[in-house]
Amino acid sequence: MQREHHMPIYEFRCTQCGDFEASHSMAAAPKNEPCPVCGGDAIKLFSAANLSTLNSPRARAIDRAARTAETPDVVSGPPGRGRPAPTTKDPRHLKLPRP
Ligand SMILES: [Zn+2]
Repeated sequence: MQREHHMPIYEFRCTQCGDFEASHSMAAAPKNEPCPVCGGDAIKLFSAANLSTLNSPRARAIDRAARTAETPDVVSGPPGRGRPAPTTKDPRHLKLPRP
């Protein structure tokens, strides 16, 4: 059995239904593929080659720097002064005028 055209399988991701695979010829590989379940647009996922590039140390350093910029250090508030008045169950205290 011989196939004239090599049909690589691409992975697509539907935001509703998750990932699915579809085969297309190299030349006709679309950027989006209608989801076979809901018919919505599913985006083509990166190939394994692109993923290995993203996992390179350089890419990770960039990713870490970007994440740090998005989440700055939380500035802690001033130390608590004037703690709340302690609650008491002494009935005499209930008669005291409130400030
Ligand atoms: Zn879907």
